[in-house]
Amino acid sequence: MIATDTLGRPLRDLRISVTDRCNFRCTYCMPKEVFGHDYEFLRRDALLTFEEITRLARVFAAHGVEKIRLTGGEPLLRRDVDRLVGMLAEIPGLDLTLTTNGSLLPQKAAALAAAGLRRVTVSLDSLDDDVFRAMNDVDFPVERVLEGIDAAATAGLRPVKVNMVVKRGVNDDSVVDMARRFHGSGHIVRFIEFMDVGHTNGWRLDDVVPAAEIVEMIARELPLEPVEANYPGEVARRWRYRDGGGEIGVIASVTQPFCGACTRARLSADGKLYTCLFAVRGHDLRALLRAGANDNDLAEAIAGTWSRRADRYSELRTAETAALPKVEMSYIGG
Ligand code: SAM
Repeated sequence: MIATDTLGRPLRDLRISVTDRCNFRCTYCMPKEVFGHDYEFLRRDALLTFEEITRLARVFAAHGVEKIRLTGGEPLLRRDVDRLVGMLAEIPGLDLTLTTNGSLLPQKAAALAAAGLRRVTVSLDSLDDDVFRAMNDVDFPVERVLEGIDAAATAGLRPVKVNMVVKRGVNDDSVVDMARRFHGSGHIVRFIEFMDVGHTNGWRLDDVVPAAEIVEMIARELPLEPVEANYPGEVARRWRYRDGGGEIGVIASVTQPFCGACTRARLSADGKLYTCLFAVRGHDLRALLRAGANDNDLAEAIAGTWSRRADRYSELRTAETAALPKVEMSYIGG
């Protein structure tokens, strides 16, 4: 069992980025001016192979990780990702999930479920087609993401969680619509405060719509009551509709930071281990793997990194920290 970090937090969750590429150019995440035609994405041989990912996942699982989420970039762009899911699904006791923009779910949901994926989270920032097309900046229609959500539910990847990042003046008008649309559907919408991840998204505190305001907007139309967390350290705060229409979550990492309960590490597509979403530097596990390290060496490297962990970025955030050269979310894995 890996020891706790310097703030007494155990390692329980791992997000694995399987690619730094995406077919969307969400203006707040991979703005076209930065991630344009000449942007140098990771080369194929820089990416961890499925065998390397699975080997690391086994070491993490043997040392306390209970939940793995595949992400990116857009994880469904990684060729044969369902084969990776199948390999990870063989690790006993792991809760295996994936976060996607939904665009490829109609073709891939059934194969992912058959390979052993349990659930998916689908990102969707507005039901207003004009707003959504402008935000994804590749003119992708809402309707096709909704088809992806349906395909996931039909394949049994339920409940589908739907992530909406709320940015003031951009899509805050869409909050109540989103709540209404999924009320009673069995799916769970999670409203996320816009964060200062990376250093290319031009984040300003004024762009953040506080979670309390989001809950108030929704509750005015669809009365809500708070629900206990499913488990300690759950990132989303849960609210349920008083009329029995299901629940929503709000992720308030700016206005109500949850660093104290953060048990999450991230593995980039090229095998660097990061102990915070807002990190500047990672620990190169690929170098160890490719130098012939055995599982003990890998476990020691992971334990060493974790035991030195002191990150609590969201509790310390200021306008100055927002400008730090933090790694991009598309690279480290959202
Ligand atoms: N491509 C996949 C997707 O769209 O879900 C997975 C990667 S994406 C980086 C993961 C999540 O991070 C998405 O829900 C996205 O909206 C969210 N995200 C990206 N930048 C963000 C930011 N600055 N603040 C809050 N959430 C952000």
